[in-house]
Amino acid sequence: MYKVAHRRRCTGRAYLFNALIGKVFLSNPADILQVVFDTPLRQSFDYLAPAGRPPPRPGERVRVPFGRQTAIGLVIAHATSSALPRARLKPALEAIDTTPIWDKTTFGLLHWAADYYHHPLGDVLFGAMPKLLRQGKAAVSEEAVWRLSQAGRAALAGGARIGPRQRALLELAGDEGASAAAISAAGHTPALRALAARGWLESFSRPEAPPPAGEGRAGPVPTADQSAAIGRVGASHGEFAAFLLHGVTGSGKTEVYLRIIERVIEAGRGALVLVPEIALTPQLVARFRTRLAAPVVALHSSLADGARLEAWRAAASARAPVVIGTRSAVFTPMPALGLVVVDEEHDASYKQQEGFRYSGRDLAVARAQRAGCPAVLGSATPSLESLANAAAGRYAKLSLPERTGRAGKPRVTVVDLRVNPARDGLSPPALAAIERHLGDRGQVLVFLNRRGYAPTMFCTGCGWIAPCKSCDARLTVHLSRATLACHHCGAEERMPFACPQCGNELAPVGEGTERVETTLTQLFPAAPMVRIDRDVIRRRGDLEAALAAVGDGRARILLGTQMLTKGHDFPDVTLVVVLAADQGLFGADFRASERLAQQIVQVAGRAGRGARAGEVLIQTAYPEHPLLRRLITEGYEGFAVLALEERRAAGWPPYSHLALLRADSPSRAQVFDFLRAAEAAAPAGGGPRPRILGPAAAAMARRAGRHRAQLLVESRSRGALQAFLGEWVAAIAAVRAPRSLRWSLDVDPAEVD
Ligand code: ADP
Ligand code: ZN
Ligand code: ZN
Repeated sequence: MYKVAHRRRCTGRAYLFNALIGKVFLSNPADILQVVFDTPLRQSFDYLAPAGRPPPRPGERVRVPFGRQTAIGLVIAHATSSALPRARLKPALEAIDTTPIWDKTTFGLLHWAADYYHHPLGDVLFGAMPKLLRQGKAAVSEEAVWRLSQAGRAALAGGARIGPRQRALLELAGDEGASAAAISAAGHTPALRALAARGWLESFSRPEAPPPAGEGRAGPVPTADQSAAIGRVGASHGEFAAFLLHGVTGSGKTEVYLRIIERVIEAGRGALVLVPEIALTPQLVARFRTRLAAPVVALHSSLADGARLEAWRAAASARAPVVIGTRSAVFTPMPALGLVVVDEEHDASYKQQEGFRYSGRDLAVARAQRAGCPAVLGSATPSLESLANAAAGRYAKLSLPERTGRAGKPRVTVVDLRVNPARDGLSPPALAAIERHLGDRGQVLVFLNRRGYAPTMFCTGCGWIAPCKSCDARLTVHLSRATLACHHCGAEERMPFACPQCGNELAPVGEGTERVETTLTQLFPAAPMVRIDRDVIRRRGDLEAALAAVGDGRARILLGTQMLTKGHDFPDVTLVVVLAADQGLFGADFRASERLAQQIVQVAGRAGRGARAGEVLIQTAYPEHPLLRRLITEGYEGFAVLALEERRAAGWPPYSHLALLRADSPSRAQVFDFLRAAEAAAPAGGGPRPRILGPAAAAMARRAGRHRAQLLVESRSRGALQAFLGEWVAAIAAVRAPRSLRWSLDVDPAEVD
């Protein structure tokens, strides 16, 4: 193993080394490869290029000796010298690729992202590859093709005696060639053997055929608002510009994307469309394939490894000009990128919450900037960051204020739970509305963002509440499984018969979707119901089946968690009931109220998308809460103005920039010792130094048996924060920490509690 310190840190030393050795090294060829591996190490390793061929370029994979084994590495740069003497460098064993696996722009984006998020480059690069590429499979797919050789052509023209089968194959192959697959499908394999043996057919390989094209069916005539949005994106003439497409649910945003993508394809370029994980349903992909004539590939987490590699190859070779994918698809190579779309740009699933903690949304904009093409961020409930970017003129704002259907905006009513107490989560006005809508043959959607039967198990004698043994959290009652489960660490235990402390009777307190389902079934026995949450929807097919029952009208009541709020269309839903709108109003996190408002607006937007007008009921015990009032009286935009004022006053993003150093360990003292040492190691730096707050315990101070705490770093200047973090990360990595302690740095964290 030939270790050299991480490039950023060793520049000084390497420079000195060069200066000492002088001309000898400077005149050396740049045949030293700097290689990174599929590990979270913050360093690269030096190898000599394999002999007898041009050295593998940055972005190409090599197989190299690593310790006592061999490993697949990725070349990130060439160098003329190493911190190690040349004689001690080992040559790479094999070059795997003949061209870089990413186009220049995407490779550049990955480097930039590793720097920006201060994450090890090897982990970033290998994490962005399909698994089969990490294992060394070919990055370009070629198929074997047979075509006429000179002898074969002469034989055909010269009237040689050729049997009808062989003649048919020679004609099929022709000068263009026929793929081995096509030849075998036509039953010509025996003839192929004979003709290849005679030398009348010769083989070569060519890039595999593109995935099947879409149907290219005409879409609806755009409305005036849609035309305006399409026109403004078109007016950027393929140059970089960022657009925020704020359109209420059902206003035709997807139709706008499709129209813009059509133009991009006509111009010979490609489009990358990012969607939230749960919104990437076969229906959405089918809609793209129906409307677009070009091949469309989908990239998401439940693809089989082979299919994922195929989709990647099709994108990388531009055989598929349209890629729809979740967060990580932002790293798909697309050499002729002409548009980036981020649908539901506010969605929390764009932020990766472990390992390389990047924002797919933010990187999408960075990618468009590097590729020199427009980025369109769409949402019915844009993030406050994006609204602030639009207000500052960094994003051009496009609006679709009207729904395309006839229904118009739903009527929103607040139910004050203090005046109308709920039983099992449902207030009398909500029950009356459900009965009325079911009677009118409408569909009803009930939203409660809490799964299980009840969030707590409570002792009626002594007040004991069932706790998780490994977390600072309460156990959730799951009655149907007769268990108590922790939603934070996954621990489950059998339901106790009596209080372990005093032997008295236990009672579930509060409600989750399972309990509300029981209640609704009792009250409306004639209305078939579908429940959608993570306890009942475990596989992709489950969601499809549930949505199908809603779509064809079999289900009359639709009950679920936030799984319901993402992208699905329920045209016959006429009533939406939000059961506990308070969750989030008093959340510890500065984004809690934003998330709550987005959830309420998104779920309300499911109502009345068809011809019938919708009605929305919001149950709350805090109807006077200023943010909730603003949301209900003035809608999301009014809410956003107030919420942004609060952010500004409190100095939260987007009016400041944050990073979070998190640490966890089985020992509380270890966590705090480490964080204090990390704080002490913070560079003084020039310029305004960011503020470091903490160490403080996380909102859930213990999870899965590990104590958790953090330092929050805050600065008004993104540049100052970045400069600080660059130095600090190296210092943190040098802090002595026990093996059981884990730490991570989260730049632009989605949550800070
Ligand atoms: P969003 O993405 O904003 O939720 P969609 O693009 O899915 O909206 O449009 C909602 C519905 O309206 C879809 O059924 C779509 O086919 C239809 N639609 C969109 N644009 C038009 C239009 N210009 N004329 C008629 N129907 C439209
Ligand atoms: Zn008790
Ligand atoms: Zn737990």
